[in-house]
Amino acid sequence: MPPKPYVKPELPASHEAQGAFSFEVGTRLEGHHGRTGVIHTPHGDIKTPAFIVVGTKATVKAVTPEQVAATGAQAMLSNAYHLYLQPGHELLDKAGGLSKFTNWQGPTYTDSGGFQVMSLGSGFKKVIDMNSVDTSGPDDAVAPGKERLANVDDDGVWFKSHLNGDKHRFTPEVSMQVQHGIGADVMFAFDELTTLHNSRGYQEEALERTRRWAERCILEHFRLTDEREGKDYQALFGVIQGAQYEDLRRQACRDLASMPFDGFGLGGALEKENLGTIVGWCAEELPEDKPRHLLGISEPDDVFWAIENGADTFDCVSPTRVARNSAFYTDHGRFNLAGRRYKEDFTPLMEGCECYTCTHYTRAYVHHLYKADELLSHTLISIHNIAFTVRLVDRAREAIENGTFFELKEKVLGDYYAKQGDPQGL
Ligand SMILES: [Zn+2]
Repeated sequence: MPPKPYVKPELPASHEAQGAFSFEVGTRLEGHHGRTGVIHTPHGDIKTPAFIVVGTKATVKAVTPEQVAATGAQAMLSNAYHLYLQPGHELLDKAGGLSKFTNWQGPTYTDSGGFQVMSLGSGFKKVIDMNSVDTSGPDDAVAPGKERLANVDDDGVWFKSHLNGDKHRFTPEVSMQVQHGIGADVMFAFDELTTLHNSRGYQEEALERTRRWAERCILEHFRLTDEREGKDYQALFGVIQGAQYEDLRRQACRDLASMPFDGFGLGGALEKENLGTIVGWCAEELPEDKPRHLLGISEPDDVFWAIENGADTFDCVSPTRVARNSAFYTDHGRFNLAGRRYKEDFTPLMEGCECYTCTHYTRAYVHHLYKADELLSHTLISIHNIAFTVRLVDRAREAIENGTFFELKEKVLGDYYAKQGDPQGL
């Protein structure tokens, strides 16, 4: 069946009537694209820049929603792929949506599932590998010893469930139906994620596919918004791909900016050292009055580069993932609490930190919990790491407002990376 030609649709009446999603720009970072702002959603406001905490399967691992809220985190991002497989988006819909189901009272996001589905395609644990880059591999590279679990065609993706091997199909329409069912305040369009292993030719092909899928996502999103009138309005962000190619990134921004998206996600393959540059290209091309979400970063240097160059929100699993391996963040770097030197260290995880963990427990106690395989270590370190990351971004926001962003950046990064190479650090 030939694809239907895309005609920019009229906004459905329900879209305008709901009007519950909007973005206000606050203070601008002079000479740069960074800014502060407020994202208004049906479940509350998000002051930006903001770190969005990740609750992949509708839970921030090992931490209750109340504990997450107490860290100052403003919003949670869950994963459409995982929730589609288990417990199913229909169930979340019946439960009244992600926020109600999880008892997370604030705004919620879902990513489209594209990242997880495409990751199955290569079997590489991390598709966006920001540290090691090999551009010489073939476009259909599969990690050694891994089976290809996903295949992309022009209409969508076939993939095998990582849970039981069942075969499933995601298309732009399915992704929208799943995300509407889950009911998050912000959804992302279904995109094809490429890797830095792909050739330039393949990047172009994938980008064109992502553009056509974006059009289909908009149409299906509008149809569902109308059909589900009376439900809270869910905003849809387009996702900018294009790897590290300036012309492709800019083209993707122009293509998607011409569509009626509520905001934009910056995704895909990039090297750490190019992060700020790529965010900057996108900020130049994208409309000023729409929020920009950077998918998947949280290291302090990445956070500052991203904010300076115009990212309003970002998410990352790292603060909680590394916590479960006993790593904790401090102003002077990231360290591993499993180390023997913490056995009799009766100080908090980080001196001066006001989080629940640091105001109630010592390094020695949490070291003991971790060594004894007690689950509470996951909870306590996760709370601290989330609070640390949220606070870091909050300080950056306050510094933009006070005109001290660059002083703060120099101080924070100077302190944080001064101990690089410390054998006890991770
Ligand atoms: Zn703390």
